[in-house]
Amino acid sequence: MEPLEEFLAKVPRAQLLPGPTPLHPMARFCVQPGVQPLIKRDDMTGIGPGGNKIRSLEFLLGQAMAEGCDCVLAAGPEQSNLCTLTAAVCARLGLACELVHNSDRPEQARGNLLLNRLLGVRSHFLGPVSGEERNVWMEKLSEQYRQQGRRPFVVRNGASTGCGALGYAAAAVELQKQCREMGISSLTLFAPGGNGGVAAGLVYGNALLGGPFRIVVVSVEDEAPVLEAHMETVIRQAEAITGLPCPAPVHQLCTITDQYRGGGWGINTPDSAEMVAAFARMEGIFIENVYTSKVLVGMEDWVRTGKATGAVCYLHTGGFGSLFSQYEE
Ligand SMILES: *Cc1c(COP(=O)(O)O)cnc(C)c1O
Repeated sequence: MEPLEEFLAKVPRAQLLPGPTPLHPMARFCVQPGVQPLIKRDDMTGIGPGGNKIRSLEFLLGQAMAEGCDCVLAAGPEQSNLCTLTAAVCARLGLACELVHNSDRPEQARGNLLLNRLLGVRSHFLGPVSGEERNVWMEKLSEQYRQQGRRPFVVRNGASTGCGALGYAAAAVELQKQCREMGISSLTLFAPGGNGGVAAGLVYGNALLGGPFRIVVVSVEDEAPVLEAHMETVIRQAEAITGLPCPAPVHQLCTITDQYRGGGWGINTPDSAEMVAAFARMEGIFIENVYTSKVLVGMEDWVRTGKATGAVCYLHTGGFGSLFSQYEE
């Protein structure tokens, strides 16, 4: 067994995914001579509306339960995928969960907020304060609970921490196995970069496996150097947990592109807005506007211009719960 697999087998982990997520060919998207387009279905992670955060929560809540936590706190914007998936996972694990949003309580609960309500989670709406203020408030709430004798666990930085990123190091192992079974010897993987947890975990895992994949990280939020710095930070945290040093700096282990992010997080580009419908009409698979559509725009561009050939894979990170709040009519 590789040292990474050995470590992952012994670290606390909540078993949440029902098994490996499907890796299958795309029917029409990017189909052209010399290209084998595939999709890795991390939108099908088996709990709630699905998505990448379930992989991070396996390790974060594994740690939480090992520490004997009795409630979980998570924070994010109103339509945060992390918040909804944390609530769904806590339902499954029988843990109390509270969510903190930096928005006003809306009159009508839509998208992820509807799911949160159905999950019966307690939600705190702080009004339109900054993300930092929201996080400070959550830490204070956690401290208050601790003083009351409870044992809260705080999911920090949108689950993009060294511990959370272990989920995507594990995903690299999973993907390598699937590629072997399918006879795929080299693969270019397109993944999103928000806070950088997914990307950091993949890059770190891939490097520890000896680099079976070429990874292209499509930033949906920050300029490439900022995202790269986030990824380095997360990898340092992961190294401290595993004791396994990452063999090279991030810029030698992947390509980060910020060409498709437009105005940044949550701001559509004309191409990304079009891609949501185009992809549904080609594959019968739904994506959303904030993360997943920009990755596909990038992948299509790389394939069309010959920058990626052979087996190319889109990592679908989910976000389905927010789709229903992204259209006004
Ligand atoms: C959170 C999220 C991401 C990005 O993850 P980071 O680790 O923050 O880069 C990508 N896609 C979806 C659907 C997400 O919810």
